Amino acid sequence: MSSLLIVGSLAFDTIETPTGWADRALGGSALYASATAGIFCSVHLVSVIGEDLAIEELSFLESRRVDLSGVTVASGKTFHWSGAYEANLNNRRTLSTDLNVFADFSPQLPLDYRNDQMVFLANIDPSLQLDVLGQIDGTPFVALDTMNMWIETAGEPLQNVLSQTDLVILNDEEAELLSGTRNILTSARAISDMGPSAVIIKKGEHGAFLWADGQMFSVPALPLETMVDPTGAGDSFAGGMMGYLTQAGDTSIDTLKRAIVYGTAAASLTVEAFSVEGLRRADRDKFNSRYRALHALTSFDPVLREV
Ligand code: AMP
Repeated sequence: MSSLLIVGSLAFDTIETPTGWADRALGGSALYASATAGIFCSVHLVSVIGEDLAIEELSFLESRRVDLSGVTVASGKTFHWSGAYEANLNNRRTLSTDLNVFADFSPQLPLDYRNDQMVFLANIDPSLQLDVLGQIDGTPFVALDTMNMWIETAGEPLQNVLSQTDLVILNDEEAELLSGTRNILTSARAISDMGPSAVIIKKGEHGAFLWADGQMFSVPALPLETMVDPTGAGDSFAGGMMGYLTQAGDTSIDTLKRAIVYGTAAASLTVEAFSVEGLRRADRDKFNSRYRALHALTSFDPVLREV
């Protein structure tokens, strides 16, 4: 089975929620994505950390088939992000973004990463995402995540990377900002016209919507009694999806639908704890049982009966 290449941030996160607080918890888009994808396939991780984060702190990823030889240790501080959630956990404010070692990062793919044909460009500066794509041989299947900050400040490199993307995964706010429309279907079509043949728009607890091959598909979030911290839900969703697609060796619409359900399962595990604690506790069986729970939640009798 081939490996999934993931490029994104490794971070310290400081997070406030209505019920708790975490200071300098291990985070970053690539942390959540690789911890999840490693359940399904082997992962080549490309990122950068500073001298204040010991690489040993990431060793649990290696037990999940995540190769860390593409992680650079640079002089300076690790990326630091801070955010606060309102009582409605769907609403989050970014309090600070300190790029630190990311400000001068120039990703260099190890030679054995350059043949990877499944690529997830997690949320980082679109210029770095482009840089990575330029180092890959062949025509990989590329999935892309981004955020408001880059849509507002890096329009040109973002449009360039979108034109080389097969699958884009955004939340509803990002999709509206990128497409200029709030209507989910119009928005997905407009974004698809920018390059990706498949578009996923996430709507927090209302789940995820797929537009691909002229078809729509939607899965709700799994209702949970305990929600501790939504940070990383989007990244683990994408990591679960891409991990499953890599394991399946197929990106047809039916496989994409199954992958979305695994992505939704991953997000549900992430929000139950701070940082990657919920994901660390989970194994493939746990993912499978959430997959079945989502099936039970959404399936109904397709036969029309006159009663
Ligand atoms: P999510 O909740 O899935 O949107 O992702 C949260 C993660 O994204 C956190 O762990 C942050 O460290 C990371 N993050 C936040 N802002 C950025 C940024 N501008 N670039 C890269 N990663 C970021």
